[in-house]
Amino acid sequence: MKMLDITKYPSRILREKSQPIKEITGKEIELFENMFFTMRNSSGIGLAAPQIGINQRLIVADTAAGALVRLANPEIIEVKGKNKMEEGCLSVPEALVSIERPDEVIIRGLNEEGKIVEVKAKGLLARVLLHEIDHLNGKLIIDYMSFLKKINFNLRSKRK
Ligand code: ZN
Repeated sequence: MKMLDITKYPSRILREKSQPIKEITGKEIELFENMFFTMRNSSGIGLAAPQIGINQRLIVADTAAGALVRLANPEIIEVKGKNKMEEGCLSVPEALVSIERPDEVIIRGLNEEGKIVEVKAKGLLARVLLHEIDHLNGKLIIDYMSFLKKINFNLRSKRK
């Protein structure tokens, strides 16, 4: 397993819409493994392929709730409830943003065997999956900041 470089804001690749995976091959499985390794070694609980510079619809998550998730082409099928919590992101290390998201989700995608599966998630895992799906659509936590907070954040990042 390999530690991959994490793409950081304001890299362009984080703003692109990622491409769907046509089929799960050895290449995707290796990518899943390396993404997991990179996520764990960075103390993250989720990672999306654009964060390692690859614009493909692949995500991994591990919230320590016993649920290791690897999904290709994840799609939100159902959402329920609401919940607000502060979120960070390995690609935007200086930001913490309070974000309201659904509390429960059903996500459909391809697992590492190329089978269509539905993942039911609640609480933190639901939040992580929604955060990673945002990445596949070029969306970042700073997009949830208030206008003023965002201006301040951008000023601080530019000064570095
Ligand atoms: Zn993120």
